[in-house]
Amino acid sequence: MKQIDKHPVSITNSLTGKKEIFKPITPGFVSMYVCGPTVYNDVHLGNVRTFLTFDIVSRYFRFLGYKVRYVRNITDVGHLENDADEGEDKIAKKARLEQLEPMEIVKYYTEGFHEVMRQFNILPPSIEPSATGHIVEQIEITKKLLEKGLAYESNGSVYFNVRKYNEENHYGILSGRNIEELMASGRELDNQDEKREKIDFALWKKASPYHIMRWPSPWGDGFPGWHIECTVMSTKYLGETFDIHGGGMDLKFPHHECEIAQATGATGKAPVNYWLHSNMLTVNGQKMSKSLGNSFLPRELFAGTHKLLDKGYGPMAVRFFMLQSHYSSTLDFSNEALQAAEKGFKKLINALGLLKRVEPAPGAKTSEISSEFNRLTEECYRNMSDDFNTAKTLAVLFEMASRINDLKSGNIKLADLDGDTFATFKSTFIGFVENVLGLQEESEQNDETLKGTIELLIELRKKSRTDKNFALSDKIRDDLKKLGIQVKDGKDGEMTYSFE
Ligand code: AMP
Ligand code: ZN
Repeated sequence: MKQIDKHPVSITNSLTGKKEIFKPITPGFVSMYVCGPTVYNDVHLGNVRTFLTFDIVSRYFRFLGYKVRYVRNITDVGHLENDADEGEDKIAKKARLEQLEPMEIVKYYTEGFHEVMRQFNILPPSIEPSATGHIVEQIEITKKLLEKGLAYESNGSVYFNVRKYNEENHYGILSGRNIEELMASGRELDNQDEKREKIDFALWKKASPYHIMRWPSPWGDGFPGWHIECTVMSTKYLGETFDIHGGGMDLKFPHHECEIAQATGATGKAPVNYWLHSNMLTVNGQKMSKSLGNSFLPRELFAGTHKLLDKGYGPMAVRFFMLQSHYSSTLDFSNEALQAAEKGFKKLINALGLLKRVEPAPGAKTSEISSEFNRLTEECYRNMSDDFNTAKTLAVLFEMASRINDLKSGNIKLADLDGDTFATFKSTFIGFVENVLGLQEESEQNDETLKGTIELLIELRKKSRTDKNFALSDKIRDDLKKLGIQVKDGKDGEMTYSFE
């Protein structure tokens, strides 16, 4: 039986609030869209938590044998300040302040975002479309919503008519909000007269003469509203209805509620079968956010330079720290938790190294120990298939790590284990640690700068040998050894190195 059939995955669907067995539209194929970053700022650790959640989701589906088409966008226009329909475009504002072209801002922060994703071993999506690359489609859907009477033009801008939509549909289906309450609680907007009602939201905004990011449209020069880009890019690449839509919990309303309304209004179909929301990373109980001033940048975390940190932590220890909680719970940052995570991560990686060196002994034996090993293997799948429970999966991996240490100490004899059981145990442990949870040895071994520096020292050592300066050659070898880097001399003066 294939892993896909053996391990049905359950997902807590924000649309129903219930845990449901995942049934893809196309068997064996998962279509997934996740709201990506707005590229006007460095990503902070909170953003990383959300992208990590969906990295795990896509990795696990792939591990089970699904084909996954994962689309994650880049918001490079249209996201206004305070997530509202008023104020300046976040990217245009940064460009104005730094006297740069908006696309210079976009390129700089997109590259920074990719670098952070790479450091945390968050795999790239299958498609990474940008809002500015889909202006035509955003204009087209806006026209369609106007034709259907679900939008109206006002002073060169176009707004979605929430009340009209709600006559035949349910605005609030995802967030549980009630439009009458929203009307009562909505704050006054400066250009209230442009919108018919406070809850209406922009599909297209008229550009003021000074607005730099602008495109021609049937309603004059302007730019798209924030929500419409995700509707356009998700349905363009995944179809009018696709399997999973994800994002941080804070995007549920208004962003995702508006996405549902726009897509349902345009196509008559619900766009998404399963909505998944990742909970917030908090600092002393408060959401980590740039505007609250409590955010850390990944580089501050690695270097330990932030005032709330007592030392630096590597990206893998941080990844481990985040995986110790379920994505649907809030996760509070703390030095103590990070320190514990660093220890736990090392323990797991040590067990991984040990296990890689153990080969199953030939011959089939059946024993109580074999059934214990089989149980642990099954539990990894059971916990991950239970709504991607990384916390419980890690707990099982620790039990497995103890068994691996028992094998090393001789408490358990390999000869008492059934060969197939051990082989499955081994491939499951390695697969869950490396492929599903994406944990790998801490980056010093992967750091390009470090590698380059070692190679340079090795070149100098070769040169010192040719010059018969053996004292220097030995010094380089011995000093590298003190740093945990072993240089081995091969044939014909070749040298290789490894980390101890
Ligand atoms: P932004 O670039 O602000 O649009 O955010 C990118 C993603 O990070 C969105 O999915 C947000 O929901 C998510 N996000 C923002 N702050 C946090 C936080 N403190 N914890 C977890 N996710 C967050
Ligand atoms: Zn979005």
